[in-house]
Amino acid sequence: MTQTIALQIKNPYADQLKKGYPLISKDAIDAHQLPKEEGALLRLQDSHNRFIGTGYYGLQNKGIGWVLTTDANEKIDKAFFSKKIKKALENRQAFFNNPDTTAFRIFNGEGDGVGGLTIDFFDSYFMVSWYSAGIYSFKEMVYEALAETVNYKAIYEKKRFDSKGQYIEQDDFVMGTPGEFPIIVTENGMNYAVNLNDGAMTGIFLDQRDVRLAIRERYADRKNMLNTFSYTGAFSVAAALGGAIKTTSVDVAKRSLAKTIEQFSVNQIDYETQDIKVMDVFHYFKYAQRHNLKFDLVVLDPPSFARTKQITFSTAKDYPKLLKDTIAITEKNGVIVASTNNASFGMKKFKSFIDQAFKETNTRYKIVEEYSLPKDFRVPREYPEFNYLKVVFIEKLN
Ligand code: SAH
Repeated sequence: MTQTIALQIKNPYADQLKKGYPLISKDAIDAHQLPKEEGALLRLQDSHNRFIGTGYYGLQNKGIGWVLTTDANEKIDKAFFSKKIKKALENRQAFFNNPDTTAFRIFNGEGDGVGGLTIDFFDSYFMVSWYSAGIYSFKEMVYEALAETVNYKAIYEKKRFDSKGQYIEQDDFVMGTPGEFPIIVTENGMNYAVNLNDGAMTGIFLDQRDVRLAIRERYADRKNMLNTFSYTGAFSVAAALGGAIKTTSVDVAKRSLAKTIEQFSVNQIDYETQDIKVMDVFHYFKYAQRHNLKFDLVVLDPPSFARTKQITFSTAKDYPKLLKDTIAITEKNGVIVASTNNASFGMKKFKSFIDQAFKETNTRYKIVEEYSLPKDFRVPREYPEFNYLKVVFIEKLN
């Protein structure tokens, strides 16, 4: 049986948690109070030892754990996880009923009541991601609850934690009948090849679904499109299907070439009519300028941090620079899709980066559309700060 440890929460954090804030910040407690083992249940109490909630201890860069319930009588057992999963599934009924989209998130951490745990659905294959050793210690209950609740072909997992927060190579299969990968999922009628047992990522970032649809429906027709940090080229596929004259996908990872060819191929697009470059984006910007290349549509979706041999990049610091390089190779009246999933800053700051980049290049712009997380990536209603995705469609005016 998991032990429960009383933990006194300092103010103002105690008041925050009482109001329903789900995250236990590391500043909320005195460090010496920390339990030895991640996964311990925490009786969270205020300075008068009054009950605030029950949480668990699990180290993530976001904090030291999450509140699971504010009901003093609620036990954290299999029934608890069952209830949360059932509720989460109910909230996604519209997704299950839509035959045009067979990949989406069915459980989004704190937005569905259990921080540190996400579950994605890929056409009856389930991918469970664990963000701390603490939440992983509840895995048996969670897997039993999930297996009893859904019809699955197989369940896979990703452990997104270790001492350095790096992905650990592992066999990700948990139960069921192993899939033959890649499987092909459909998203608004577009096909994507997905592999649930091949390293840290699956081939598609589900949180960009609405952005891919917007690009296909409203921004790609007869356009020359550049997709930077393209990974498997998912945005390029959307643009090509939306009528782009040509797409150019740029990613420094060698494997992106084969993966991008695969994504085009499962959509019956001849990849040889498209450009796929295995190249550092920062080198590509110079190359494009030297060759006077310009684009009508540029997608800019860098990782929050990146390190190549020559360059260390952080979106929190370098986004304006990235945008300036992009502006230089965007046609007049072209559109830049600027995206970031960096949770350390919000939309306001992101827009200030955009403004700075355009000012410093003496360019005028207009914001045409904005996106954040899609509906299946639920966030706690009162706490939009957990909505990490920021995507802004910007028209370059001169
Ligand atoms: N936009 C993609 C996801 C990007 S993931 C999509 O929607 O599918 C981040 C990608 O950036 C990874 O594939 C990584 O290989 C790539 N990357 C990181 N640093 C890079 C650099 N300096 N130049 C080019 N690609 C880079």
